Amino acid sequence: MLDDVTTATDLPDPADAPDVLDTTSRYAASILSSLHARPVVPPEGVPVGDEPLPMTGEGFAGALDAFARRWAPGFSASAGPRYLGFVTGGSTPAAVAGDWLAAVFDQNPAASDGSSAPDLERQTVRWLARMFGLGDAHAGAFVTGATMSNFVGLALGREWLGEQLGVSVADSGVGALGPVRVYSGAPHSSTYKALSMLGLGRDSLRPVPTLPDREAIDVTRLAAELDGTPAIVVANAGTVNTADFDDLRALADLRSRTPFWLHVDAAFGGFAALSPSFAHLVDGLAEADSVCVDLHKWLNVPYDAAVQFTRRRDLQVQVFRNSAAYLGLPTENPDFVHLTPENSRRLRALATWFTLTAYGQDGHRSIVERTVELARRLGDLLADTPGVRLLAPVRLNVVCFTLADSPTPERVAEAARRIAATGETFLTPTVYNGQPALRAAVSNWRTGPPDLVRIHAAIADACAGT
Ligand SMILES: *Cc1c(COP(=O)(O)O)cnc(C)c1O
Repeated sequence: MLDDVTTATDLPDPADAPDVLDTTSRYAASILSSLHARPVVPPEGVPVGDEPLPMTGEGFAGALDAFARRWAPGFSASAGPRYLGFVTGGSTPAAVAGDWLAAVFDQNPAASDGSSAPDLERQTVRWLARMFGLGDAHAGAFVTGATMSNFVGLALGREWLGEQLGVSVADSGVGALGPVRVYSGAPHSSTYKALSMLGLGRDSLRPVPTLPDREAIDVTRLAAELDGTPAIVVANAGTVNTADFDDLRALADLRSRTPFWLHVDAAFGGFAALSPSFAHLVDGLAEADSVCVDLHKWLNVPYDAAVQFTRRRDLQVQVFRNSAAYLGLPTENPDFVHLTPENSRRLRALATWFTLTAYGQDGHRSIVERTVELARRLGDLLADTPGVRLLAPVRLNVVCFTLADSPTPERVAEAARRIAATGETFLTPTVYNGQPALRAAVSNWRTGPPDLVRIHAAIADACAGT
């Protein structure tokens, strides 16, 4: 009866899957085992493809060959041990495996019907909450990155502002709010982006002065700005320039005197909680109304993954509720479809589940402690390097420095180019305290002392010659 259904020869063949995966696994292993030897960023001029849309397929072997020849040479070794740009983690072996298996099982943990996948995500979120010192009051979900995590936290802050006025922004729109004030000391750029996406506007952010030679908010100045009108405060736990931390305990105390929604951007700084040596930096985190932590940075899981937490799940359902007859209404334990910006989504919790199960909180604490130690050593080396001047103490895993002599934007950019051209390491330029600067962030589980020697030599040469 179904004999006439097409059996074209160019359809993918399920019987090919084992071979395809074996071949890919061997190729992937060769990439990972040579990561340390690849140029950290490819030399300029590696040609990129401009391929016509394939009408007839080349088969998997042809595709892998084409990828390896035309595209892979232009990819950075950002997963490797000496890429110190932005805050870039690598991927632990177990995390890569978990990510692969997320594709193999291809679950959609949006709603609970028929799979335990959403329960795996819920459990993994609870594990993370414990790791970051949050209590049971904080619930959360996986999102794609810290930008989306900040977006969700600020969406909840927006809904909370509406609640103070007796309106629901989710129903009536942001026009029901009137002007909104968002305060922060040294916000990450993604906060402005989130405010734009939320209809609150980038101009709603009012920068609050920071303490002298710090990127941490001056709480006294903030207190003077607040006049009892409900507002949002975006606190920072780990700034990208100097890994500085707001005094979260003092902010929570202030909130008990004057109302505001306390959102904490702990994208990478949240990992301070794992180590007894640094946990004091995030003291008070559990008081936050919403918290953002990135996972593709210091947890060393592949892109893209972050987690968001809040104490006000009711507001989260109000904002992200996706009511449809076939999905049912949100319950006490709402499905993720009612909690996140996405509806359908991948089981990105699986990579995190795998790495935590394989190496445990202790293994991840060791990654954090070792990378901080390496960053401090790099800071010590650079402090004694001619032509280089440190701009801030190395508080955690970020080293912020500039050229000792006339660090103009052009000369600092030229130093960054020379460092990248060595293929040995990659740093990102910034402006700190009005000064053009470079910053090195150590966040990769693979980085070790021999890498540090090479990184330091590349920086010292480039800065001496600039
Ligand atoms: C990286 C970072 C972000 C943005 O993270 P994405 O994962 O790129 O979306 C936000 N805040 C801080 C402090 C960060 O370090």
